[in-house]
Amino acid sequence: MKIKYSIDTEVLVIGSGGGGIKASIEASELGTDVLLVSEKKFGTSGSTFYPGVPGWGMCCVLYDSDSESEYLSEILEAGSGAADPKLSKILTENATQRFRDLEGYGLQFAKISEDEYASCIPCFGKNKRGATTYGLNKIRKVMWQQLMSRGVNVRNGVTVVSLVVRDGVCAGAVVIDETDNFCFIKAKSTVLATGGACGLYKYSLATNEQTGDGYLMALEAGARLINLEFIQFIPGITKPVSKTLFQEKNLDTFPKITNRNGKEFLYDYLPDGVSMEKCLTQRAKHGPFTNVDASRYMDIAMIEEWRAGRAFAEGGLHMQYPKEVLTDKRHAITSWLDWMSGMGIDVVGEGFDILPHAQGFNGGVYIDENAGAGVRGLFAAGETAGGPHGADRLGGAAIAATQVFGKIAGQSAAKHAKGTEHSDVSTEYAEQYMSQLLQTNGGGVVDIGEATARIKEIMWNCGSLVRSEERSKEGLSKLEQIEKSFSPLMHFESGADIRKVSKLRSLIKIGKLLLNIMDYRKESRGPHYRIDYPDIEEEFRGAIVSKYKDGQISLELIDPAK
Ligand SMILES: Cc1cc2nc3c(=O)[nH]c(=O)nc-3n(C[C@H](O)[C@H](O)[C@H](O)COP(=O)(O)OP(=O)(O)OC[C@H]3O[C@@H](n4cnc5c(N)ncnc54)[C@H](O)[C@@H]3O)c2cc1C
Repeated sequence: MKIKYSIDTEVLVIGSGGGGIKASIEASELGTDVLLVSEKKFGTSGSTFYPGVPGWGMCCVLYDSDSESEYLSEILEAGSGAADPKLSKILTENATQRFRDLEGYGLQFAKISEDEYASCIPCFGKNKRGATTYGLNKIRKVMWQQLMSRGVNVRNGVTVVSLVVRDGVCAGAVVIDETDNFCFIKAKSTVLATGGACGLYKYSLATNEQTGDGYLMALEAGARLINLEFIQFIPGITKPVSKTLFQEKNLDTFPKITNRNGKEFLYDYLPDGVSMEKCLTQRAKHGPFTNVDASRYMDIAMIEEWRAGRAFAEGGLHMQYPKEVLTDKRHAITSWLDWMSGMGIDVVGEGFDILPHAQGFNGGVYIDENAGAGVRGLFAAGETAGGPHGADRLGGAAIAATQVFGKIAGQSAAKHAKGTEHSDVSTEYAEQYMSQLLQTNGGGVVDIGEATARIKEIMWNCGSLVRSEERSKEGLSKLEQIEKSFSPLMHFESGADIRKVSKLRSLIKIGKLLLNIMDYRKESRGPHYRIDYPDIEEEFRGAIVSKYKDGQISLELIDPAK
């Protein structure tokens, strides 16, 4: 593996979703030279621009009847002891101003009158808050104009393989460039904004590049991760369309949900005292799966039916709505019916299939108040960063976090760059540093496509929504087998599929980390459900922080409020 050339920038931002865009805007506002790199074409990748999403819903305080302190207390309550209150407070105190920034850029948030936004109570929240800006095309265009007007250098088709760290300072990253050459981008400051790792799962609402690269790069650079086990799973449609948002608000109209044998299976999973009506009424109140109410049995039932081989060929369970839904005049229902019929789906006729899909990570690189990742010169933003949210995450708070911590990360990166000389780290050092990371004891060349599909299947079976010690152990042993057979360096030297090699490495390492954390947390909290420990346990209140110690995973339960 040879690095062909190197280039210099003051600030390197990795990832062009909401977090990376905002960090780039803010770093360039402070007069630094910014290079924004992304694996895929601008505006087509990551969760920020996930195809088919109607727009960005952003949670922030907009009315006198609400307050930042209420927003904060709702985050902390949903966070169930795992959010870092300092970071949550920063989020709540800055979200409204960042919402105004977006309006200033030219984005319009939906309104019901001149003075009132079309706000709703966010998932896991209590007060009407925030609003949605519709139309990804418009968002893409507006954000592009903001970057161009500030002279940000944007490069698409650049996959970052690893950071380069010397003496505890991040000196930039090694990337595969647009023409498949290795390049060392020397940077005074680096911002990780590569999004989450939902691409680990066979069923996800994620684009392919979301393999947790930022998490792995940060760990290998010496940073810590927090709350990684708290992953949002949300129902998605598998047939007649796939990887498509379902929208849960209609569930209180009680659809018939059947498996491939035509059985209404949900009844088999409901404990005494929980009726189907109670389960679905509560399920209609939030998109992501959670343990906090009786709604959990719907998602658990679907996953277990899938595991038992009773789902349909495309993976989903069938839903058919009563015809009364067609005369339900609630906005959430009428707009959903329009959305479904736009996709050619007749919800009371043929119906459609759904299954929970991985949709977002609530944890990530444990940042400080300056979005620092605990390694000099390294910052994180957006879904790559963790701490502001805990176990369950308030709806719309993820986009809010991209803007709030994107700004902080961009400003911190610019300030750090201004006070720093370019490091004298050589290309040879970068080459050696990366080779060491990719070095394995043995292994060889594997079929990358096949191994990637296998990992997604393993993670789905062993580390998705229904977890247990047995499943974690089974998953770990299977991932270790794949890891042993695979030498990334050998692949790089052969020159084949080099981008996919780098992604496969992340899938294996982050998959293993996740299964370890899932096994460690012997209870059920927020979206973490253990079939062998189905209740919340006081002794596990807090956040699990992970890091690499002498190349091994080290986990610690902390109280993030201390
Ligand atoms: C279907 C769906 C709907 C959602 N709706 C909402 C909502 O309404 N409100 C809300 O608050 N949240 C919502 N979320 C969550 C929210 O969209 C995300 O948390 C947020 O957009 C993440 O932004 P980001 O910038 O951190 O990462 P992303 O948008 O995921 O961007 C990551 C970027 O990193 C790049 N990248 C990844 N790896 C590499 C690499 N190795 N090298 C170079 N580039 C790399 C990708 O190409 C991409 O450009 C939704 C998520 C989904 C999936």
